Amino acid sequence: MLAGWSYLSADYEVARDRWNDVAIEIYYDRKHPYNVERMIEAVKKSLVYFSREFSPYQYRQLRIIEFPRYARFAQAFPNTVPFSESIGFIAKLDEEDNETIDYGFYLTAHEVAHQWWAHQVVGGYVQDATVMSETLAQYSALMVMEEEYGREKMRRFLKYELDNYLRSRGGELLEELPLLRVENQGYIHYRKGSLVMYALRDALGEEALNGALKRYVREVAFQEPPYTYSRELVDFIREAIPEGRERLIEDLFDNITIYDVKTREASVEELGDGRYRVRVAVEAHKFRADGQGPGDRDTDRRLDRRGGVRRDGNGRSGVGQVAGDGAAPHHRNRRRLRD
Ligand SMILES: [Zn+2]
Repeated sequence: MLAGWSYLSADYEVARDRWNDVAIEIYYDRKHPYNVERMIEAVKKSLVYFSREFSPYQYRQLRIIEFPRYARFAQAFPNTVPFSESIGFIAKLDEEDNETIDYGFYLTAHEVAHQWWAHQVVGGYVQDATVMSETLAQYSALMVMEEEYGREKMRRFLKYELDNYLRSRGGELLEELPLLRVENQGYIHYRKGSLVMYALRDALGEEALNGALKRYVREVAFQEPPYTYSRELVDFIREAIPEGRERLIEDLFDNITIYDVKTREASVEELGDGRYRVRVAVEAHKFRADGQGPGDRDTDRRLDRRGGVRRDGNGRSGVGQVAGDGAAPHHRNRRRLRD
């Protein structure tokens, strides 16, 4: 486990539940009961997914403990998660709003994921350590979200991550680094990390990617020094990459690579027999950036990868790595994109 402990003391109400032989306990302020049930749900669903896909949970209990909103974070200690009132306990989600992100559920899944990614697999105290903790916790939480909300809704979460990453890299004061050499930079290990792992899962499939992670956990969990580092993680992922797609590692981990894909034109032609012909013109580029900035040092790279093309119920067209939210698409397929 990663060394660390926390002290919390208050007049708590305790909600108790169980998952198999694991006691789930939420310590909360009795004036903030709104999302406690939802957090218990998130804990259970996370324990189910992670223990099935990665390795068994190592403790007999999992506790979430509320603290006041003078700080706004949650942090995972071994089997114990202090969790700010302001990022889950007093959240009121507008379920009518399609753009709402159930962040209490998502953050709970992220913190539970740290019981694996930080407390089973411990990265060495080196440059890339947060890939093994934060990036893998983000991916794990995304997969729990996907099981909960369905694949069609994932674009909403990924769009938040993408916008945040692009905005933040523009404000970098020192140097943006590739994911593999991240220096505790949140917009890289969280935001870009989510996008990289989801893109990988798209390319490899959930089974192959999770299989690689499972083998990695088996190899390095609970190890003594020297601890694991990101190059070792990537070696396990590389073994699961289909032939001919090896450049994914180079693009997603070793370099700063930006995909710029836009729909230029879209037209619909009625064929008269109840069918429609939809034409979509796509402009697609791939850029590499270096740590000096996202400006004119970007070099255009040849783009050659598969993207998803979809058309949804209200006639809009979209192109991206994942399908959009809203109604289920009428049509979805994958085409090779070249610039
Ligand atoms: Zn975290």
